[in-house]
Amino acid sequence: MKGLQLESFKKRSEIIIQKLRDNGHKITPQRLAIVKILAKSEGHPSVETIHVQIKKDFPTMSLATVYRNIVLLKSLGEVLELGFPDGSNRYDGNRPDPHPHVICIKCKNIVDPDLDSLDEMKKEVAFETDFKILNHRLDFFGICSNCMAEKV
Ligand code: ZN
Ligand code: MN
Repeated sequence: MKGLQLESFKKRSEIIIQKLRDNGHKITPQRLAIVKILAKSEGHPSVETIHVQIKKDFPTMSLATVYRNIVLLKSLGEVLELGFPDGSNRYDGNRPDPHPHVICIKCKNIVDPDLDSLDEMKKEVAFETDFKILNHRLDFFGICSNCMAEKV
């Protein structure tokens, strides 16, 4: 992990923790562990993926507890939920603002592209439709370079 990235994950954790405190929620070691995983959101984990990671340090923590914490952080606007029709929801606590995603259909890895054209696209949509745009959901589906290299 690069130094700069590590800094930004730390900062994200601190912001989430402060938000929890400001809203009167206790910072338990279990909750802190969930926050740390979500601050990174590497590959945009599912509740199950987070649960597996958490159980290494907190073997008794249930999936329901992990889920409750994610719902709480979502309600505070600190986690972005990516819902999918098959119910395999994924989470981004690193960037809770709406942003586009690129999804590998093979390994289900999800990454954040930086699109310069997004602001332009939002303006165009608003102009075309006369809508005031409040939110957006933009997913690209494909095969990641790792999966391409495997040549299955
Ligand atoms: Zn892949
Ligand atoms: Mn994301």
